[in-house]
Amino acid sequence: MRTIDHHIAGHAGGGSARSHDIFNPNTGQVQARVALGTRADLDAAVAAAEAAQPGWAATNPQRRSRVLFRFKELVEAHLEELAHLLSSEHGKVVADARGDVQRGLDVIEFACGIPHALKGEYTQGAGPGIDVYSMRQPIGVVAGITPFNFPAMIPMWMFGPAIACGNAFLLKPSERDPSVPVRLAELMVEAGAPEGILQVVHGDKEMVDAILDHPAIGAVSFVGSSDIAQYVYARGTANGKRVQAMGGAKNHGIVMPDADLDAVVNDLAGAAFGSAGERCMALPVVVPVGDETADRLREKLLPAIASLRVGLSTDAEAQYGPVVTAEHKARIENWIQKGVDEGAELVVDGRGFTLQGHEGGFFVGPTLFDRVTPEMSSYKEEIFGPVLQMVRAKDFEEALALPSRHQYGNGVAIFTRNGHAAREFAARVNVGMVGINVPIPVPVAYHTFGGWKRSGFGDIDQHGMEGVRFWTKNKKVTQRWPDGSATGENAFVIPTMG
Ligand code: NAD
Repeated sequence: MRTIDHHIAGHAGGGSARSHDIFNPNTGQVQARVALGTRADLDAAVAAAEAAQPGWAATNPQRRSRVLFRFKELVEAHLEELAHLLSSEHGKVVADARGDVQRGLDVIEFACGIPHALKGEYTQGAGPGIDVYSMRQPIGVVAGITPFNFPAMIPMWMFGPAIACGNAFLLKPSERDPSVPVRLAELMVEAGAPEGILQVVHGDKEMVDAILDHPAIGAVSFVGSSDIAQYVYARGTANGKRVQAMGGAKNHGIVMPDADLDAVVNDLAGAAFGSAGERCMALPVVVPVGDETADRLREKLLPAIASLRVGLSTDAEAQYGPVVTAEHKARIENWIQKGVDEGAELVVDGRGFTLQGHEGGFFVGPTLFDRVTPEMSSYKEEIFGPVLQMVRAKDFEEALALPSRHQYGNGVAIFTRNGHAAREFAARVNVGMVGINVPIPVPVAYHTFGGWKRSGFGDIDQHGMEGVRFWTKNKKVTQRWPDGSATGENAFVIPTMG
């Protein structure tokens, strides 16, 4: 049995008493074990990070960015290996796994431009003989705690900018698919980063708590489910750390009567069922405006759902593969039952789906509910599976209110040909990321990513310039170089530059 160990500089590994099973979601069988680390493992990683970080911060930004360029080239050279490894532990199809790596690389590309992003501000002559300038300095030792659903992209969102800014980064990836993060850390060393600049510590709550309590860690970025995000935010900030914590989601797609329904059905099928719905920017709720739109949409959705191919993650023809664990499959199927019990109309039931020859695999068939209402708990909570729920709205205002009042506020989309309606929607909806005829509105790497309400705790988003701000401290310098001629200033009155 393969054992996945930490990537800690100078640490031989193999010392963890506890471990966690890694499944092959296609077969349901255990394929490896990951070590679950302790405070002692974290202490070893922090010590290595503290030893490496000052030298890395003193390396000029152009040289740091060259390491990231080289890392980007290495990840590209290993793309197939990484995508297959990712797919074998997560269950997403290989083409989608390539996208997971590529969306992370996009942020590494942004981080390659760090010399430009780190430039400070300068005012000459802010007062008589006085200049003011600012400089962005790294925090020191920082950490990221990531979810199972994007084991390449989300770690790269975090460590790319953090390392480029001069920090040493400790990654605590999901214990469900930890192999790709370890490979990324190995490639970072191969790219020329000193050992200790990117380390991986595996674990569960014990390791997360150790990170949140460790006095040497200055900032923590978290992505995962909302209750844990809130807990991480509260405990980390109570310990004086800078914390950003992204949580769960329940993204709505509003379909206006004038929308191109064939295009909508195509977009919806990918956004609701792609990656088995295990995306924080999936579109699991569709809100047609008016009963006539709803009926027409439902009619077009049925054949599209019937033609979806659910298969092995290695099947190049499959649109989506298994979900991540048996536990998660059971959770999704329980939510489907809950929806039925609450009175929603189950139009397509994906429960009990099996693939011949792979009966132990964690597959869930595509599921469609109609006549879901906002009072239902299956609407209020995140299901995170291939389940599309239709909530009928009578008009635009009702459709706008649904995502705006929902506890989550990650992403939302509107499908329409009416520019005025789209503009109003984007301005008024109470959600962090908006798509206009774009079903999964994940902003590109040089913009930023972050949801509102229970989808995001803290006030700084991921990557882009927000990422640079999160991973640096801003120092403000006011300087004067007297020539000896100045006299008689009243030092007891606050200077006003008047
Ligand atoms: P999760 O919350 O179970 O796990 C996330 C991380 O927290 C993992 O590293 C895990 O080890 C750790 N963790 C788990 N239980 C813990 C506990 N009790 N105390 C402390 N730490 C704990 O999330 P997941 O199932 O891996 O990922 C799916 C969730 O992440 C979904 O809710 C999804 O919407 C969300 N997500 C959000 C975004 C976003 O940007 N908003 C992006 C991707 C995923």
